[in-house]
Amino acid sequence: MASEKHFKYVILGGGVAAGYAAREFGKQGVQPGELAIISKESVAPYERPALSKGYLFPQNAARLPGFHTCVGSGGEKLLPEWYTEKGIELILSTEIVKADLASKTLTSAAGATFTYETLLIATGSSTIKLTDFGVQGAESNNILYLREIDDADKLVAAMQAKKDGKAVVVGGGYIGLELSAALKINNFDVTMVYPEPWCMPRLFTAGIAHFYEGYYASKGINIVKGTVASGFDADANGDVSVVKLKDGRVLDADIVIVGVGGRPLTGLFKGQVEEDKGGLKTDTFFETSVAGVYAIGDVATFPMKLYNEPRRVEHVDHARKSAEQAVKAIKAKESGESVAEYDYLPYFYSRSFDVAWQFYGENVGETVLFGDNDPAVAKPKFGTYWVKDGKVIGVFLEGGSADENQAIAKVARAQPPVADVEALGKEGLDFATKI
Ligand code: FAD
Repeated sequence: MASEKHFKYVILGGGVAAGYAAREFGKQGVQPGELAIISKESVAPYERPALSKGYLFPQNAARLPGFHTCVGSGGEKLLPEWYTEKGIELILSTEIVKADLASKTLTSAAGATFTYETLLIATGSSTIKLTDFGVQGAESNNILYLREIDDADKLVAAMQAKKDGKAVVVGGGYIGLELSAALKINNFDVTMVYPEPWCMPRLFTAGIAHFYEGYYASKGINIVKGTVASGFDADANGDVSVVKLKDGRVLDADIVIVGVGGRPLTGLFKGQVEEDKGGLKTDTFFETSVAGVYAIGDVATFPMKLYNEPRRVEHVDHARKSAEQAVKAIKAKESGESVAEYDYLPYFYSRSFDVAWQFYGENVGETVLFGDNDPAVAKPKFGTYWVKDGKVIGVFLEGGSADENQAIAKVARAQPPVADVEALGKEGLDFATKI
């Protein structure tokens, strides 16, 4: 007979939000046997961003247990033993295929059932696959995606099998940029392909992208813009060998990496909770429309206080903070107390080769480039302000020190008025460090 287990709290998903939620439960006090994490991954929660960075280094690569949560934010590394000591059950390699919120029951692929009093949904996102659109040949070997540690292991194995080969990276977002750099560092001949006029178009301005595209070119990465991969050929072993582009060009390839976006994993809850903007709608405490059911991390659409509208955020900083907010709210509610509203300032970052950027706030309105965005400059430091309704509401900075990054965060939060946009560009980073 399939097993049945009951927990006071269940976290569904074993990624970043799950790890930070577990740590917060530990801080707030949880009795042995009260909390379980159910994850389809085979390892305890870890810092997912490492997979596209340190995990792919040719030397001294990051490996577990080195990057379990919560090291990414400078916190304690929660090894599997930590969960055992706290009496928190890690139910790994277990995919939940059915969630019945009315009876508070989750059912796994193997038929095991788990009941709970409080559920935290932390299922994150899945990658969009080219096979989803029926792209010809997209099922060939070595056409790879990156979301979980198993995907990263497949990529590492492919890099070893196709040593010094040719790699095509489909997509010009942060995954495409970070993976192109990783493949280049591993001595691959790398070509990036994306349809937009410049990389990271959802965040970067033309001026910001000018730097990164030039910098990548100086590292020997080829960039093909304005077209998409429309098909693939494979060799007799079924391994990808050619990428066919929509504009008629063909590229030889031993490995293809696709980073064309993700989708929040909300399917298990369709029709059971209110949704908004593609995510599970929550209040400021991350409780959904169903009492006792919380959604955290990538899947949550929450009220963004700063901008007074619901938002969904697919970034690690929010995964960590939303998890902490939800657990604090759950525990406060139990003792008849309350917690402050979630007041999140959007924060994104990325790093590759020797460059690293941070962005805070909103990227809408007029833009003002400051500093030198010449890709050939020895020590790059430049940025961009976004100005809307006479106020600075977003700031991007490449090459900032810890203090400078803190200063731009402060600006994005304070939204200082700016009378003269031209003068702002001339003042540059000094404007931020004076706030
Ligand atoms: P995840 O961390 O994805 O965790 C979801 C978990 O749920 C996984 O363990 C999954 O297996 C499990 N799960 C899903 N469905 C089920 C099911 N039905 N049953 C059981 N388990 C299930 N953000 C940044 O801000 N900066 C970065 O540099 C950055 N780099 C990234 C690099 C990569 C390669 C990736 C993939 C993401 C990166 N991100 C980055 C985004 C960031 O990692 C995510 O926003 C964050 O992980 C979201 O946390 P989460 O807990 O919501 O989801």
